[in-house]
Amino acid sequence: MSRILIIEDEQAIAELEKDYLELAGFDIVIAGQGDEGLAIALSEEVDLVILDIMLPGMDGFEICQSIREKKDIPVILVSAKKDDMDKIRGLGLGADDYMTKPFSPRELVARVKAHLERYDRLVNSHATKNDIIEIRGLRIDKTDRRVFVNGEEKTLTTKEYDLLAFLAENPNHVFKKEELFRKIWDMESVGDIATVTVHIKKIREKIELNTAKPQYIETIWGVGYRFKA
Ligand code: CA
Repeated sequence: MSRILIIEDEQAIAELEKDYLELAGFDIVIAGQGDEGLAIALSEEVDLVILDIMLPGMDGFEICQSIREKKDIPVILVSAKKDDMDKIRGLGLGADDYMTKPFSPRELVARVKAHLERYDRLVNSHATKNDIIEIRGLRIDKTDRRVFVNGEEKTLTTKEYDLLAFLAENPNHVFKKEELFRKIWDMESVGDIATVTVHIKKIREKIELNTAKPQYIETIWGVGYRFKA
């Protein structure tokens, strides 16, 4: 069972997060003070940290940095201030994710699961050769680059596969089309971001039951795409 540390001084929020995460099968420990939270994060067995920014004792920015110096576990930063999000990005604190309050507890649970799965894959990627991503009937076998939907194999082109696998390896992360284009096509081809749109459309036609209501790759209007975990 994964153990999650919630560092949060607003008890009602901490309890709400705890309830939802416990229902999802996680073991929860709560710290209401920054310094206390950091001590637990560093000294105890913890798999993921949900970290509020405004805290008594020591703020979330400092805690995040201190955890990063010692441990590699996923950290999700939480803030009530939209401005903090820019600061988090700017500081390069090494947070894996950030959420603005108020957020839905379900969304939090989904992100926690996605980060733990991603972390597991990272940690285990050296140990196992059979790297398989499996989400809601979609199975991506990375050892031989094969894709199955409910057991039925789908034939993807090289770039379609690369794009799908990359998105699925980074679930719930929103990627801009430009980022995806750079990542997947690199410098090897002349094209523009419309190439990404075209490939997403082709992938959806192959893996989605209903392309009008995609359940795997979600379009974030005006930004890009994300793989829903
Ligand atoms: Ca707070």
